[in-house]
Amino acid sequence: MPSLSALQRAQLVDKSTHDNFDLIIIGGGITGAGILLDAATRGLKALLVEQEDFAWGTSSRSTKLIHGGLRYLKQMEFGLVREVGKERAVLYKNARHLVRPSPMLLPVIKNGSLDKWTSSAALWLYDRLARVDKNERRQMLNRKETLSKEPLLNKDLVTAGGYYYEYRSDDARLTISILKKAASLGAVALNYCRVDSFTEENSKITGLVFTDRIRNKKLKAQASVIVNAAGPWVDQLRTKTAGDKSGKHLFLSKGIHLVFDRKRFPVRQAIYFDVPTDNRMIFVVPRDNKVYLGTTDTAYQGDIGFPNITATDVDYLLTAANHMMPSLQLTRTDVESSWSGLRPLIHEQGKDPGEISRKDEIFISTSGLISIAGGKLTGYRKMAERIIEHVYRYLPSQKNHVPCKTEEIALAGGEFLSEKELHQFISDNRKHFKFDNQLVDELVFRYGTDAAVIFEHALNKNGTKEDLIQSEWTYAVEEEMCYYPSDFLIRRSGKLYFDRPALSNIFPNLFNYMKKYLQWTDSQEIYARKSYEQAYHDSLDF
Ligand code: FAD
Repeated sequence: MPSLSALQRAQLVDKSTHDNFDLIIIGGGITGAGILLDAATRGLKALLVEQEDFAWGTSSRSTKLIHGGLRYLKQMEFGLVREVGKERAVLYKNARHLVRPSPMLLPVIKNGSLDKWTSSAALWLYDRLARVDKNERRQMLNRKETLSKEPLLNKDLVTAGGYYYEYRSDDARLTISILKKAASLGAVALNYCRVDSFTEENSKITGLVFTDRIRNKKLKAQASVIVNAAGPWVDQLRTKTAGDKSGKHLFLSKGIHLVFDRKRFPVRQAIYFDVPTDNRMIFVVPRDNKVYLGTTDTAYQGDIGFPNITATDVDYLLTAANHMMPSLQLTRTDVESSWSGLRPLIHEQGKDPGEISRKDEIFISTSGLISIAGGKLTGYRKMAERIIEHVYRYLPSQKNHVPCKTEEIALAGGEFLSEKELHQFISDNRKHFKFDNQLVDELVFRYGTDAAVIFEHALNKNGTKEDLIQSEWTYAVEEEMCYYPSDFLIRRSGKLYFDRPALSNIFPNLFNYMKKYLQWTDSQEIYARKSYEQAYHDSLDF
């Protein structure tokens, strides 16, 4: 039975070279993960290969919101608002632990892009199109009410406010939870497998050549259909096959985020505010003891894997936040961590990055390669459904069409039927680990019902705090194909972004634990240290 265990990874890689798949997906971001799950639920034999760790690309570097899509109203994309609004509700039902309702304040300011009337009308329309639950519908606030909700706001600027709900998430965890579910249904997902080229017969793609980067082995795999879900790398892969990338192409737009301690940036709730200089909108999102601020939206042409953060990017966000909340006086030295991601948008002639549609698009190369780009985290399930419908057209005719089922499939750890059940699960487990409620809560919101495995493992030892911490590492290796410390510290736990000052204490123990458990070779050990040091450095380099 396929699994997502790092201990079985080598066997899974070798076995995949002998199997004949219906479908191979390139890219282990949310788009590829969603396609893998959709394929598995329809009984298709599917493999996913990711060149680095799962969610290593854009899907760990977003604003981490499951949007109803308010900003698309500005672009008159009503269909998109309707679709993402519905998808938000589906995701909340299927992954309640990872998709959390979060009140959002939208201050109306003098000379801003929206006045009180247009904000009210936009939020009203948004509630209807996105079919927002009655309890979460927008309230309009006067100046006094807005300032009392958020005393940090600039009293000279604010004239009114809107109060509505967005949903906060963790992009990388969401991706991994989808992959875990797909693996439990028989699909194969492999990290650290880079696709180098395609095999073709009569100018049609029949498979691919890839490198297992952990064992440095070149291998081949075969499938009836290949889907390119490589996010910002989609065009690079399209040029590796006949049919090239003629027609539409990608436009990469960079977005950065800055993280602060909540004591230094003590907002009471999330805020979505105007930047007066360019009429863009910026989010402030509290997350436990931290707050993050983002994002920028600028054309990007450098190294796709490592988009840099410049002092200009940082100053743009700091200036905007200080203008809206002048008592803060934030400076570069207040930033504790940061990240930078690339939006794989579809190029539209003559438009600025912020004006380009976030809609997804499918391209079919003459060699049969199916590529998908654009889109959002929020719409991943519908994107996957559309892709699998395309895939059926290219599968041998004996494959009966099975309709999409993912609307009803809980993601891994998402088997809570209600908020009440989720909170009951938390309080039941807090009883076993009275010394640290916060850690228990964190684990439940990271792993959902799967946290039970971690709790049980810790209780089977001595149930101490150290046991609980180490049980999470064991779980990440055994159930989430975590191979290196940076995989855990960035994409399994988010600690590099949200607990960076604590890493110097965590890293040495985690390193030694993984080295022993996974029996790294010398070169793997060097890679493990270097990849962590690079990520640690990059997260505060501007
Ligand atoms: P990726 O996550 O980049 O995945 C593609 C994967 O393909 C990568 O991991 C890469 O390593 C792999 N790959 C590439 N080449 C190869 C190869 N040769 N072999 C094997 N693997 C390969 N959306 C929302 O819904 N809400 C938000 O709040 C939000 N905020 C955003 C903020 C920013 C700054 C950005 C940049 C995006 C944001 N988005 C948001 C959009 C969302 O994050 C993206 O649409 C989504 O993550 C794209 O996922 P993907 O799987 O298509 O691409």
